[in-house]
Amino acid sequence: MSISQLARSIVESPTLKLNETAALLRDKGEPVIHLGGGEPKTRAPIDAIINCTALLNTGEVRYAPADGIPQLKKAIIRYTEEHYHRLVAPDHVVVSNGAKHSIMMALYTILEPKDEVIFPVPFWVSYPEMVKLAGGVPVPVRAEDGTFQPTVKEIADTVGSYTKAIIINSPNNPSGVMYSEDFIAGVVELCEKKKLWLLMDDTYNRLIFDGRTPTNCYRYATDLGESSQLVVVNCISKMYAMTGFRIGWAVGSKEVMAAMANIQSQQTSGPSVPAQWASVGALNGVQSSIDGLRRTLENNRNILVNHLKAFTGVKVTKPHGTFYTFPDFSAYNKDSNKLSNFLLEKVRVVTVPGKDFGMEGYLRISFCGTIKDITEGIERIKWALDPDAPNELYLGDRKLVRDWR
Ligand code: PMP
Repeated sequence: MSISQLARSIVESPTLKLNETAALLRDKGEPVIHLGGGEPKTRAPIDAIINCTALLNTGEVRYAPADGIPQLKKAIIRYTEEHYHRLVAPDHVVVSNGAKHSIMMALYTILEPKDEVIFPVPFWVSYPEMVKLAGGVPVPVRAEDGTFQPTVKEIADTVGSYTKAIIINSPNNPSGVMYSEDFIAGVVELCEKKKLWLLMDDTYNRLIFDGRTPTNCYRYATDLGESSQLVVVNCISKMYAMTGFRIGWAVGSKEVMAAMANIQSQQTSGPSVPAQWASVGALNGVQSSIDGLRRTLENNRNILVNHLKAFTGVKVTKPHGTFYTFPDFSAYNKDSNKLSNFLLEKVRVVTVPGKDFGMEGYLRISFCGTIKDITEGIERIKWALDPDAPNELYLGDRKLVRDWR
């Protein structure tokens, strides 16, 4: 038996794998602290649940249009108008099975074999694999100065004759950094000048801190007509804590949206209808849950960053949004896979190796869990790494004894 070369070239999502590992260990009664997670722990908004159950109670759940039910498109149009000050028609919107699927559909739609797709380092783990799945070549761009944000010039210098698209995710998974307005303006301008597609992954742009305003890429676009190559992706997953519903959407020009809808109609058909109705509820309902989540996350961020700052040898950049920090642990171990495995094995703390995000020596540490988990998780990591720490640590009633240096 042989599987395709393409299938062989794709690695498993490391973050989903870690969720599985954590769940397996927990099932065995291990006192795991999951600081590798990518989802808020709050409940879905009540309006989402009411809408979804109302449909389920009818017992009639049927196929729906490939590009989304009209009611959800209407809610997305209203959302786009409110948050991007841009009025679009329904044929400028495609609803997919999560933002991941929206990005995948967009890549299938725009890439020719061997086309290159540029994105800044660190990047969301799925971008390289999704680009490869669509036949393209991922081209990560690293900031020369070692920060989490390359300059527009660094991006522009990477653009070559095979470049087809740029993906920007701000605030960024894993760094939590929000790119500057100048940077976004520069990238929009670059894409227009070079006739490149720009995929704006705005998955986290409502979960931002310190009174910041979400970036609106349309502000910088001069071409908003039918030849626009700007595609903006959003989802209900993070802002409404509805990751399991699997609904995301893309907004773009009619031609590209129609092509995306065609591909989707052959590949998955329309997304799950109960999930779409839940999304209508979330988008049209009371919005206070987003602000509540945002405030909880901001508080969690402050606690985590303070703990990390007090951690000798660890360098941390304060996240502007999301629920991730991306501290540099290279003073302890330059191999982030080894370090992450070590922490899981010795003190049962889940982190995600920076290597998966394109930066070796870093770990992604999430702050979407409880304050207790954050505080205890960092204490355990400190105990495991600090050579001057006491020899023993209690995890509940289990005594750990350091047998390493
Ligand atoms: N983009 C980024 C940057 C993400 O972090 C994620 C989820 N981890 C997604 C897209 C995918 O979101 P969804 O769950 O809606 O597919």
